[in-house]
Amino acid sequence: MSGFKRIAVLGSTGSIGDSTLDVIARYPEHFGVYALSAFSRMDKLAAQAAVTGAAVVVVPDDAAAARFRQAWKGAGPMPEVRVGAQALADTAADPGCDTVMAAIVGAAGLPAALAAAQSGKRVLLANKEALVAAGSLFMAAVRQSGAELLPIDSEHNAIFQCLPQTGRAEAPLAPAPGVRKLILTASGGPFRRHDPADLADVTPDQACAHPNWSMGRKISVDSATMLNKGLEVIEAHWLFAMPAERIEVLIHPQSVVHSMVEYEDGSVLAQMGQPDMRTPISYGLGFPRRLDPGVSPLDLVKWGRLEFEAPDLQRFPCLALAYAALRAGQAACVTLNAANEVAVAGFLEGRLPYPWIARVIEAALEWQAGRPSVTLDRLTDVLDLDAEVRAYAGNLGLA
Ligand code: NAD
Ligand code: MG
Repeated sequence: MSGFKRIAVLGSTGSIGDSTLDVIARYPEHFGVYALSAFSRMDKLAAQAAVTGAAVVVVPDDAAAARFRQAWKGAGPMPEVRVGAQALADTAADPGCDTVMAAIVGAAGLPAALAAAQSGKRVLLANKEALVAAGSLFMAAVRQSGAELLPIDSEHNAIFQCLPQTGRAEAPLAPAPGVRKLILTASGGPFRRHDPADLADVTPDQACAHPNWSMGRKISVDSATMLNKGLEVIEAHWLFAMPAERIEVLIHPQSVVHSMVEYEDGSVLAQMGQPDMRTPISYGLGFPRRLDPGVSPLDLVKWGRLEFEAPDLQRFPCLALAYAALRAGQAACVTLNAANEVAVAGFLEGRLPYPWIARVIEAALEWQAGRPSVTLDRLTDVLDLDAEVRAYAGNLGLA
């Protein structure tokens, strides 16, 4: 690993944020925390800032800043408190850090993730919604600035590890030579065996009870609908310059094989491990060196057998909608993501029944397809469309 790395962890109070700080704390000689950010839970942010000695924290508004100052109990000096979305993007581009963990949930994380890419940082990308909404802008920024983009989503991290190694992280313009297709594995979530007719009454807690992974609530619901895998197909398209028809999804309930790359000679390379995000996070932090993030070894004898099955698109309509959006183009992908964020928030708040998540997304995609085409060359174009979709989707199916 070359030199000491100063890291900004955006979304530090979330599930990925927690795991990132856990790995960083194991290597104080290699990593220091420059900045942390959170949207809520200022007490948790204050505790994290005190433990890590962060120089900067970023919070959404003045009320949150006041709560942060009130919660501060650190022995050292209080970090500089920056306020608002612009401060978040500025911090991602701040010369005080060289590595940015983009772990905010949703398209809200896009401006800061893009700012990190534009300023040539090492970008550890967990925030898949940023790529779904603005893949071409984001990848162009990586190429232009020479940023190092390391995928943190476990499937994409697995694929990155299984692709031919060139010794550096890059943003390819064409599929890697010799690769026939990418195979993304999916657990199938908590409703893999449920009769779709029984899903009308499922509660947010049932949808968030993921069989293998412990994650934030939005991505947990996305895993139940398999829209998460759909977002990941789009993410893989941008990260690896791979067309939709060469990205396959395979249900693998044990979540031990994190994804695979199939080569033209018939070889299939898989990356396996415990379902613990500290493995891909430590891979991104240490790349190209391997670190020990405290993950227990994989015991394949204990597992005994691993299973695979094709996804049923009738049962998981959101997966089919995501493939359709990828084929339709970027405006459809922005629409898919924004409509889903609105629908999932409605479901988590008890305002929308579970089966309506797919219906809201489908209706929003139909609405968008009937509108005049838009250019999405700039971040503001993407954010404008995102806001329009949210306004439209917010009126659908809500009691
Ligand atoms: P989480 O809900 O646990 O945490 C989200 C973080 O983002 C929190 O710190 C929160 O304060 C912050 N945040 C939320 N809304 C914000 C806003 N509007 N502006 C600024 N900050 C905001 O989510 P998570 O599970 O850690 O997931 C984070 C990202 O990583 C998501 O994009 C998710 O898809 C991706 N991801 C997560 C996992 C996982 O295992 N949790 C795995 C792969 C990818
Ligand atoms: Mg994933």
